[in-house]
Amino acid sequence: MKAVHNFNAGPCVLPQEAIHAVIESLNDFKGTGMSVIEVSHRSKEWDAVMHETEALWKELLHIPDGYRVLFLGGGASLQFLMVPMNFLQHKAAYLETGVWAKKSWKEAKGIGDAVVVASSADTTYNYIPKGYTIPEDADYFHITTNNTIYGTEIREDMVCPVPLIADMSSDIMSRPVDVSKYVLIYGGAQKNVGPAGVTFVIVKEDAIGKVDRYIPTMLNYKTHVDNDSMFNTPPVFSIMMMNETLKWLKRQGGVEAINQRNVKKANLLYEEIDRNPMFVGTAEKDSRSIMNICFVMSPEYKDKEEAFMMLAKERGMVGIKGHRSVGGFRASLYNACPMESVQALVACMQEFEQQNR
Ligand SMILES: *Cc1c(COP(=O)(O)O)cnc(C)c1O
Repeated sequence: MKAVHNFNAGPCVLPQEAIHAVIESLNDFKGTGMSVIEVSHRSKEWDAVMHETEALWKELLHIPDGYRVLFLGGGASLQFLMVPMNFLQHKAAYLETGVWAKKSWKEAKGIGDAVVVASSADTTYNYIPKGYTIPEDADYFHITTNNTIYGTEIREDMVCPVPLIADMSSDIMSRPVDVSKYVLIYGGAQKNVGPAGVTFVIVKEDAIGKVDRYIPTMLNYKTHVDNDSMFNTPPVFSIMMMNETLKWLKRQGGVEAINQRNVKKANLLYEEIDRNPMFVGTAEKDSRSIMNICFVMSPEYKDKEEAFMMLAKERGMVGIKGHRSVGGFRASLYNACPMESVQALVACMQEFEQQNR
């Protein structure tokens, strides 16, 4: 197989060991003589995988009692709707830190009164707003902890006067999180915990069932809590891959150990962006993400963008083009992205500097 440095934003690089383990299960799932995608989801072998996967989540994130972890379909985008359906009675508050945050707010507006308490849209979302007031009468406050497109991140668990809900699609399992500060955390798996096709929802059990609207069965968290995420057929293959990805993470020393490695990887790249006069970071320094690192050519080298893309491609870099709404470059350094890939990108930036200055 061709060796590449995969910086894709999602779907993205996953641990090779997890991929190989899943290939094994595709051939013969736990000695059943059948592939994991051929067995019944009601079999005892599959049931064990479901339980083990939830247990791995609880162990790795130190999730307290009273919470469940659900594995659903529909992506983070369906959670944008399920959250207000299940939690919005009178009013909801949102922090607008990017287009994903904006999309989640839009869904809430369709359900009821949803206010944006602060926004960084004025500068293409390159910072996390501070000093805003969360209305005390809000049913919940919704945040997007990592803004995948702009490379900004809320790395601390905030103290919130109302129930806190977070989209953690692109930084879940990258750092420790105090789950007790949230009533619900959700995300698509395809950025850090598995392939596309499964959505994780960490939910505080006693926080649901409090609104009085009719909630369609499949959109009701209670349905999935009561049925251990198997009200209908779960995305079996995606969950299997998530299971192996979490086992890999555990072997790496868990979330605490991976966080230290993630910080080292990000620092290495940010140091080069700040040192190399050809490049400039786009996110405000105090809002910088550890997962998605966004940068552009310095104004005096604007015309060199294509040339750098070409060199990076020659050196095996994949997925460093910035999102179309921001331009420039974005390197996503998710858990499974090795330090060697970051070193290779930094070396490539230095080589480009030598060629062009
Ligand atoms: C990718 C992403 C989404 C969308 O996820 P889907 O699973 O594709 O719906 C939502 N929020 C954030 C922060 C993301 O990075």
